Amino acid sequence: MKAVVLHAPHNLMIEDRPIPMPGEGDVLVRIHRGGICGSDMHYYHHGGFGTVRIKSPMVPGHELSGIVERLGAGVSSIAVGTAVAVNPSLACGTCSFCVKGMSRHCSDMRFMGSAMRTPHIDGGFREYVVVRATQAVPVGEMAGLEEAACAEPLAVCLHAVSQAPDLRGKRVLVTGFGPIGALTFLAARHAGADAISATDIADMPLELAKKLGAEAAWNVSAADVMEEEFRDRGQFDVVFECSGSPAAMRLAIGVTKPSGTIVQVGLLPDEIKAAFNPMITKEITFRGTFRFDSEFDLAVQLISDRTIDVRPIISRTFPFERADDAFAFARDRQQAIKVMLEFA
Ligand code: ZN
Repeated sequence: MKAVVLHAPHNLMIEDRPIPMPGEGDVLVRIHRGGICGSDMHYYHHGGFGTVRIKSPMVPGHELSGIVERLGAGVSSIAVGTAVAVNPSLACGTCSFCVKGMSRHCSDMRFMGSAMRTPHIDGGFREYVVVRATQAVPVGEMAGLEEAACAEPLAVCLHAVSQAPDLRGKRVLVTGFGPIGALTFLAARHAGADAISATDIADMPLELAKKLGAEAAWNVSAADVMEEEFRDRGQFDVVFECSGSPAAMRLAIGVTKPSGTIVQVGLLPDEIKAAFNPMITKEITFRGTFRFDSEFDLAVQLISDRTIDVRPIISRTFPFERADDAFAFARDRQQAIKVMLEFA
C-alpha cells in the first residue's frame, strides 16, 4: 500500500508499506478520506507544536473514514463492507482517568497521527489502517464518506459545547472560524443556542459564517468593529475561543457578560499577555476542553442523518499523491476551511 510519510517540515514522501494484518479484535479499514487538521498542519509546516516534535518519520492524519475490508479473529460486531468513521483515539481503559469515564485524559493514550509519545503513533494518511473493531463506527447511508471524515473534529466541538452551560436561549460568540470554529458553530446551534456570531481575521470564513446563519460576523483585523459588544461589560453569555490567538482571548474577556463562560478550544501560546482582572470581577467561568469521549459516536450519528450537515465546511479534496498541494492549500484561509485527502 501507499502511505503519506512526514520526515521533516515540508518533507513529505509517498512510500510503500506492507498492508497491516488485523489481529484479534481488530479490523482492517480501506481508507477513503482523510481530513487535514490543524495539528497535521503544524507537523507539516513546523515539525510540531509546543514541546511536541516529530523525531522520526510519521504518517499524519486522524480524521478518517473508509470501508471495513477484513475482520480479525473474534470480531462479530461489524461486517466486511461497512462504511465507517475511524475513531483515532485509543485509550488504555485501565488508568485512573479511563476507569472514571474520562478516557480523553488517559495517561497511556495512543492517538493516531500523534508525535506526543515516542515511538510516534502513525496516523491514517495511508491506504489501509488496522484499528480495534470498537474504533470503526458505522456511518448511515445518507451521508458520504467525505462527511464521515468530519466526525473526529465534530466530536472535539461537541465536547467543547458540553463544557459550556446549557446554551438554550443564550447569545454565543465563536472566535476563529476555521474548521473547528465552524463545527463549534454547528454544534452550538444543535445545542439550542439562540443566536451565534463569529469573528475571524479573514473574510471568506466570515462569509461562510453568514451562510450558516450567523447573527453577525466581524472581521476583527480592523480596530473597534465590535465596540457595541463591550457595552454593559459584555454582551455574550458564552464565547467559544477557537483561534488560540491572544488577541481573540483578550476580546473574549471583554465581550463576555458578567457570570458568562469562556470555553477555550484553541491551544494558546505558552505565555500570553492579557488583562485578566475583568475575568475575576465579572466572575467569568474559564473552561478548557480537550479531545472527546463518547462524543465521537454522537458525531457519527449526527453526521449520518445530516442532523448536522458538515458539507458546507468541506472546501476541497485532493488525491493523496498531491498531499503537498493539499497542505499548501489548507494554509490559505481565503480559500480553505476543511481540506481532504482522497485515498479511494
Ligand atoms: Zn487510560
